[in-house]
Amino acid sequence: MSQQGYVATPPYSQSQPGIGLSPPHYGHYGDPSHTGSPPGMMKPAGPLGAAAPGGMLPQGHPPHGPHQFGQNGAHAQGPPLQRFPGPPPVNSAAPSYAPYSPSTQSSYPSPVSTSSVAQLGTQLSAMHVNSYGTGMAPPSQGPPGPPSAAAAFQGPSRSPQPSILQPGSQVLPPPPTALNGPGASPLPPSTHRQDGLPGPAPPNAQYQPPPLPGQTLGPGYPLQQANYGPQMAGAQLSYPGGFPGGPAQMAGPPQPQKKLDPDSIPSPIQVIENDRATRGGQVYTTNTRGQIPPLVTTDCTIQDQGNASPRYIRCTTYCFPCTSDMAKQAQIPLAAIIKPFATIPSNETPLYLVNHGETGPVRCNRCKAYMCPFMQFIEGGRRYQCGFCSCVNDVPPFYFQHLDHIGRRLDHYEKPELSLGSYEYVATLDYCRKNKPPNPPAFIFMIDVSYSNIKNGLVKLICEELKTVLEKLPKEGQEETSSLRVGFITYNKVLHFFNVKSTLARPQMMVVTDVSEVFVPLLDGFLVSYQESQSVIHNLLDQIPEMFADSNENETVFAPVIRAGMEALKAADCPGKLFIFHSSLPTAEAPGKLKNRDDKKLMNTDKEKILFQPQTNVYDPLAKDCVAHGCCVTLFLFPSQYVDVASLGLVPQLTGGTLYKYNNFQVHLDSQQFLNDLRNDIEKKIGFDAIMRVRTSTGFRATDFFGGIYMNNTTDVEMAAIDCDKAVTVEFKHDDKLSEDSGALIQCAVLYTTVSGQRRLRIHNLGLNCSSQLADLYKSCETDALINFFAKSAFKAVLHQPLKVIREILVNQTAHMLACYRKNCASPSAASQLILPDSMKVLPVYMNCLLKSCVLLSRPESSTDERAYQRQLVMTMGVADSQLFFYPQLRPIHTLDVKSTTLPAAIRCSESRLSEEGIFLLANGLNMFLWLGVSSPPELIQGIFNVPSFAHVNTDITLLPELGNPYSQTLRMIMGIIQQKRPYSMKLTIVKQREQPEMVFRQFLVEDKGLYGGSSYVDFLCCVHKEICQLLN
Ligand SMILES: [Zn+2]
Repeated sequence: MSQQGYVATPPYSQSQPGIGLSPPHYGHYGDPSHTGSPPGMMKPAGPLGAAAPGGMLPQGHPPHGPHQFGQNGAHAQGPPLQRFPGPPPVNSAAPSYAPYSPSTQSSYPSPVSTSSVAQLGTQLSAMHVNSYGTGMAPPSQGPPGPPSAAAAFQGPSRSPQPSILQPGSQVLPPPPTALNGPGASPLPPSTHRQDGLPGPAPPNAQYQPPPLPGQTLGPGYPLQQANYGPQMAGAQLSYPGGFPGGPAQMAGPPQPQKKLDPDSIPSPIQVIENDRATRGGQVYTTNTRGQIPPLVTTDCTIQDQGNASPRYIRCTTYCFPCTSDMAKQAQIPLAAIIKPFATIPSNETPLYLVNHGETGPVRCNRCKAYMCPFMQFIEGGRRYQCGFCSCVNDVPPFYFQHLDHIGRRLDHYEKPELSLGSYEYVATLDYCRKNKPPNPPAFIFMIDVSYSNIKNGLVKLICEELKTVLEKLPKEGQEETSSLRVGFITYNKVLHFFNVKSTLARPQMMVVTDVSEVFVPLLDGFLVSYQESQSVIHNLLDQIPEMFADSNENETVFAPVIRAGMEALKAADCPGKLFIFHSSLPTAEAPGKLKNRDDKKLMNTDKEKILFQPQTNVYDPLAKDCVAHGCCVTLFLFPSQYVDVASLGLVPQLTGGTLYKYNNFQVHLDSQQFLNDLRNDIEKKIGFDAIMRVRTSTGFRATDFFGGIYMNNTTDVEMAAIDCDKAVTVEFKHDDKLSEDSGALIQCAVLYTTVSGQRRLRIHNLGLNCSSQLADLYKSCETDALINFFAKSAFKAVLHQPLKVIREILVNQTAHMLACYRKNCASPSAASQLILPDSMKVLPVYMNCLLKSCVLLSRPESSTDERAYQRQLVMTMGVADSQLFFYPQLRPIHTLDVKSTTLPAAIRCSESRLSEEGIFLLANGLNMFLWLGVSSPPELIQGIFNVPSFAHVNTDITLLPELGNPYSQTLRMIMGIIQQKRPYSMKLTIVKQREQPEMVFRQFLVEDKGLYGGSSYVDFLCCVHKEICQLLN
């Protein structure tokens, strides 16, 4: 496409960055100076860059059989292992091809089969799809379309059909138009399959049949009737808070307009349900390069056959453009969201552990990539060619194996690193600090015992709970007891260290009053084994609330607390995690002292970014020190007023810790939420003192990283710790051409220390396709991953750029991506038709949710701390969590089938979907709301709340009463399922229709226009469409 196609017309070209002759780079608001070393370059020093020692071979090849790899202990006592080499289908629905059978190159799926088209047509008519009449041209060129032109859009999600939307009169000024013309018209010939195999397969790949056998709608999927509420009256283009092309900028005068039928625009619920219906419950095998996994909202079983599971890595697109010109043209971010410690369900195989003894992992001599399925063995098995840098390496003698008739090693299926996408290595001493094995990590509990925390019972609650949760410290598979050691500190404006040595009759306290230069007053007896010191520890936890009962100290310190914990870990020469329980702005005289600098006047100004930045320069170097010593900080905050989350949260964020925040915490109401979080955090799977390196095949490289990370250079991602819920989003850029033959290969290696003190390497490999066809790129995109990337890069940018600029960039890039598709990939049609690629059908609605988030759009009811908090949470989210966060789940409860265990089908997040006879449950990963319509069925109210009517329901409760009736049981079970696997315990709020708190709830109805700004989905779609039309002209 010539760039001329993107010449913007006024007013866009005037004020917006990145529109015009050179398409904007998303990096515009990031740091432009990414000068990482090209792939193949050796890292000068450090564990990941260190060459494996040549060494003599401790062993020949391992014995045969599936159990030779020293499986993770957790598995040892469980059900029998899935036999490793053979990848048998887990259920009969799975395609059962022999893996890597050599003769399958030719069997690519044909283009769209006629049956799928026919089926599509049937479905469309079954869904009362509106016709999309003749297109309407933009006002500046050509005659306007007939006045009957109607918005029409539909088609089942993930169908081979691009989405087409006719602009309604909102987009263009001509006369008001009738919407929703009757009848269905045939769809244009399908040109794109999202489920095909783009590009040639790797030499050994086998064809896997497209996983979309039938395009059937999920059972029970409700066809929503448009009930387009009055709140949308007079839908106007408006994007308060800086949406480009708001009413003021529109060409032509505003006119009374008809509404676009929300049922005719792409529905996230339908996309989710369709993917579930077609791919849910199946086995997804990762044997094919570049294949698109099921959506993150679809439950399925994943079988590793050479590429990392999508639980570990998801990508914005599974087919990269061959050239950077193409990438610039499409402006689709090329990124991977990597969750290296993702939790794997019990029916999937845990990672195998490879142990090469003193020799360590086999690595490419040039680029240091680890042995993996992308290495090609040649010369009878004596050498191998690296898939990343093409260097030909000698096979170390101990690792030699003969090749079979197709050039594959005879032990291919016996070695995880040859046939699996993900596995672990036992690291040798070269990978350890100071070349000696690490000590097991430690947990240090640090409790703010200032006056208010004692008075409101928080300190007592924490101490009581610790007695229980310390029994559940994480341990490695076979360990009887956890190797983790524990320590305790309390503080207000001074620090109290406790000696809890097992030989003591009672704990001893040592006070450190000099908080400017914190030192650790005791080594022996501070970090202990919980098992050995249990009675002393319990004694201490019983005493702490009383010890400070008479204290009137209100002031606290904060940075010295972190420093004390870090120094204690450093003195003990071990990595670890600090659990800090803190409540107030640290105003006591000490490093990191903070003042109240909250200033609402900065909102919607260019200085708003200051509110997201730490107010002193103490915390960033402190975070750096913490990372350097493997000290992860998790912070439980209990603020009753402004505490400056942007400053307090910085160390937790940069050290891979978690920030929990409980506003106006009340022990009798909020304990359960906090205790669930604490238990979950202590028990979760975690790796310490980690360093991650992302290697790529030639032609592209990782250029930017987002997450709970610290980077001292451009390639090594350092993390004091990383747990199962944390994801790092990595952006890639071209530095050369990519080839369709060799694809784009990614290897993520995480060196870390286990909870038992073993040094390990966790390797995830993923092969993507490459294509010189834009259409291939578009059909391989994953919108959920795109939104994760956009959210993180935008939330990173808020530190440096005005929010208005960031929002504009997001809107522009959305329009560019879609305009490029429209121009280059869609079949010819009227210029005024909005055509969305199937894989990006819901990009506009999700993008609008991101634009409306309180981080990017200030609202009176979102405090500065809340915005900083949400910003921080999103920065470490994986794809599933960001999807739920930006588009909450809304489910009707009044239609509940108490005999069924399946969740009631979700509905779209719009007030028009609610009914006053109904009860609805909304969840976004942080909050859960139970919304009660004024005419909710009394028997349901009785069943859930044990009160006779709506009026009697007490909305102060944060937990539903545990009643024995089926309504209560089923609802609580549903809430449990929704909560499962989510990193934060969601706070429950009961909301009654037409009462004040409903205002908060309505902010989560993300398809509607925001109460304080933020477009409705319909309006936003029209705006995007208008932008696209401008770009296409
Ligand atoms: Zn290499």
